[in-house]
Amino acid sequence: MQPQEVELLAIGAGPANLALGIAVEELAPKELAAGTLIIEQHDDTVWQRGMLLPWTQSQVSFLKDLVTLRNPRSEYSFVNYLHATGRLDEFINLGSFTPYRSEISGYLQWVASSLSEVRVEYGRRCVSIEPGPLENGVVSRWLVRTDDGGLISCRNLSVGAGRDPRIPGELAGLPDERVIHSTQYSDRVGRLDPAGIERAVVIGGAQSAAELLWATYQRFPQARCTMLMRSIGLNAYQTSKFTNELFYSSFIDEFHAAPAETRRQMLREMHVTNYAGLAPNMLETLYREMYQERLQGTDRLRMITMTDIVGARMDGDEVVLDTVDRKTGRADELRCDIVLLGTGFVSEMPELVKKLAAATGTGEATVDRNYRMRLPRSYTANCYLQGVNEATHGIADSLLSVLAVRAQDIVSDLLARQGTASGEALLANAL
Ligand SMILES: Cc1cc2nc3c(=O)[nH]c(=O)nc-3n(C[C@H](O)[C@H](O)[C@H](O)COP(=O)(O)OP(=O)(O)OC[C@H]3O[C@@H](n4cnc5c(N)ncnc54)[C@H](O)[C@@H]3O)c2cc1C
Repeated sequence: MQPQEVELLAIGAGPANLALGIAVEELAPKELAAGTLIIEQHDDTVWQRGMLLPWTQSQVSFLKDLVTLRNPRSEYSFVNYLHATGRLDEFINLGSFTPYRSEISGYLQWVASSLSEVRVEYGRRCVSIEPGPLENGVVSRWLVRTDDGGLISCRNLSVGAGRDPRIPGELAGLPDERVIHSTQYSDRVGRLDPAGIERAVVIGGAQSAAELLWATYQRFPQARCTMLMRSIGLNAYQTSKFTNELFYSSFIDEFHAAPAETRRQMLREMHVTNYAGLAPNMLETLYREMYQERLQGTDRLRMITMTDIVGARMDGDEVVLDTVDRKTGRADELRCDIVLLGTGFVSEMPELVKKLAAATGTGEATVDRNYRMRLPRSYTANCYLQGVNEATHGIADSLLSVLAVRAQDIVSDLLARQGTASGEALLANAL
């Protein structure tokens, strides 16, 4: 089969690669923009597809969009999206820095549809990435296979496909239809029979788990909804304007240059600013509702804290979770109809990237400061990894906060590798 040839292939039309697409159009020669293709597994661009609940808001400022921190004059800003869709007055009047998740999602789709040179092709899931043939001692291209039977050959690759969901191994014995990870919630919840859901258990103790609990509680008015967590209870994000400075893209250099142990310490300390907490309004909403439930004696919302799940099985039509109270060591059972996972994402590299690293013989996948994967010397083909470099680039790596500037780092590096004068100049500017 003759492969489709492109210069830069970006896997995933999420925020990371859309920011890259804009940066390519704004910073690179026209030929590179025209030779750039973004492929997306779904038929459209949606932000947080599984958790696109109408009441959820972004947790970062709308000014941390795909471009403003790099180029505030860009036509691809969130403000221009609001202007183009006739909603700028209303958004200003709302007086909020944090748009609804659905507005960010609309903005991403608008960007994807507005790119003038870079193409986006939907309904194409990358299933494998292989090094191209070794020619004159050099691997200069990648071969990417897609689930529609396609084969794409490219010199440069950007993997921005998000992270793999974390599914606790203890639940391995349960049938798929009884377990819903947050990334699948919106797609799958509509297919559940409300009459069949009398007891739902949400596992996790941070924002996604709390959102799952609230959404399930509202959707299934007859159901008893239990949240089960290992921690001592729900907490608000422990953030301040001081620690928020560590989410700046200008902090990445400092973080990256620090010794590995110091980086680990910083990540541990910053965990509570992002992963381990809830937005204060979500906490208040849940607490008030639990209070009301108790007041009325209905008790439909419940928290079980300091508890591990050690196993799971089916007993007839019931899911049985085997639990251990971490305070007393007491073993117990929790029976339910459905398990919802607010367990987040694995911190390691996604499987797609691990397999790619193995195919190149590099062992563990790591990137340099400019997000370029470290590859054997024989490779002139480049591969950039986005959103999976928390260990080396800091806690903001998976967030919107750094996307605009990161896209410039990647484009500069890519052009410099091609030896173009504009690339050298951009790189010098960026450093
Ligand atoms: C519920 C939730 C809320 C969040 N809220 C915020 C927030 O408020 N602020 C913030 O800064 N960050 C937030 N985040 C973090 C989030 O990771 C980033 O905002 C952002 O979405 C990362 O962009 P990305 O492009 O790297 O990955 P993703 O947004 O995950 O996009 C990846 C894209 O790649 C596609 N894809 C995946 N695999 C393939 C494949 N094999 N082939 C083709 N396409 C593929 C996916 O369908 C998707 O469109 C949130 C995360 C979650 C889970």
